[in-house]
Amino acid sequence: MVGGGVIGCAVAYELGRRGAEVCVLDRRDVGLGATQASAGMLAPFIEAEHAGPLRRLGSRSLELYDQFVADVVGDTGDSVPYERCGTIEVATDAVSSARLERAANELSRAGVHCRLLSGSEAVADEPHLSQRVCAALLVPAHGFVGAASLTAALRQAAARHGVAFLTPCAVTRLAPTDAGIEAETDRGPRLGDVVVLAAGSWSGQVEVEHETPIPVRPVRGQLLRLRWPAGPPLTKVVWSSGCYVVPWRDGTTLVGATVEDVGFDERATVAGVTGLLDAARELLPATTRAGFEAVRVGLRPGTADDLPVVGWSHAVPKLLYATGHYRNGVLLAPLTARLVADLVFDATPDPLLDALTPGRFEAASTAVAGVQVAAGRTRS
Ligand SMILES: Cc1cc2nc3c(=O)[nH]c(=O)nc-3n(C[C@H](O)[C@H](O)[C@H](O)COP(=O)(O)OP(=O)(O)OC[C@H]3O[C@@H](n4cnc5c(N)ncnc54)[C@H](O)[C@@H]3O)c2cc1C
Repeated sequence: MVGGGVIGCAVAYELGRRGAEVCVLDRRDVGLGATQASAGMLAPFIEAEHAGPLRRLGSRSLELYDQFVADVVGDTGDSVPYERCGTIEVATDAVSSARLERAANELSRAGVHCRLLSGSEAVADEPHLSQRVCAALLVPAHGFVGAASLTAALRQAAARHGVAFLTPCAVTRLAPTDAGIEAETDRGPRLGDVVVLAAGSWSGQVEVEHETPIPVRPVRGQLLRLRWPAGPPLTKVVWSSGCYVVPWRDGTTLVGATVEDVGFDERATVAGVTGLLDAARELLPATTRAGFEAVRVGLRPGTADDLPVVGWSHAVPKLLYATGHYRNGVLLAPLTARLVADLVFDATPDPLLDALTPGRFEAASTAVAGVQVAAGRTRS
């Protein structure tokens, strides 16, 4: 396994549970890539007026989450912050209200429990909301998980099932051999029957013999941790066009996130921090009295179609990809782990994998460089 983010750890855990002998190689320590910055939201039906493969993936993975967390906690005894507290997605003008109404209709048709609220109902439900809120969509099944705690627990749980972790260990090249795949690393060569490439934004930097690099690009996200002021806490994750806010039970809130196309630059910026603070104050005026605790930065692994890459390499036998999870890697971790382990153990491939094949970029690989992400937008 190349990469020990939430995806690599979840896949390693699932493979270990099924009896595979697994070693995770990470060039830093586990969980220090995009995963440590994540807000951990589990919200596949946000901005969901259109159905599509991403919503299907998210919804399937969300269904797995209760059991996934219970298994990991059961295997380790570690505690993992996990809540299905619901989300409230708000509108502050007629255009976004109409969009929420379309989303509510679409979700109801799909059988997802949700409720459209007027502005006053929304403020009665979540009194910290700005009076400018004129409509809101409540999705009770949504929630959040502590991404760092979950990944640390996945590591412990995987280790209990015999998974080895070798860190720091940077993989530079993968080459097929008669016996499997050889990984060249800065700690010498390593041989595996199967290699899973789960190196997040850096997946395209690992040279693979006979294969063009997988076109995953880094999309920087900055996220703030604030200490919520005294008084009643928020009860749900709040989402607006400017930012989202995740209420932790330890009295802190996460405010995210910027979306920036700046290459492999993991530094925080004044513009990123002030933009998020302004958006949070506009959405929840009490933010003005909050304490500032930290800013986190991560590089989301983006793809040209915003879908992850999960499946066998077309050119290199025994090489599997599990990368490109962009804004949804934490949400999609349980499903990705299951899909990858099913492939390794030759189970019937899930039809969901058809949209995720690594080969889908071959024709479009020259076009991906032209995909731009607008700086200043906010997303998970
Ligand atoms: C600000 C922000 C907020 C987010 N909010 C959410 C959210 O609310 N919900 C959600 O579901 N998702 C969210 N995401 C997205 C989510 O964090 C990512 O999709 C997810 O963390 C990707 O996990 P990963 O394991 O693929 O990548 P990473 O966590 O980046 O892990 C990749 C690992 O590979 C290692 N690696 C890289 N190159 C090599 C190499 N050559 N050799 C060995 N190891 C290597 C790295 O050191 C790293 O540990 C957010 C992301 C950001 C930045």
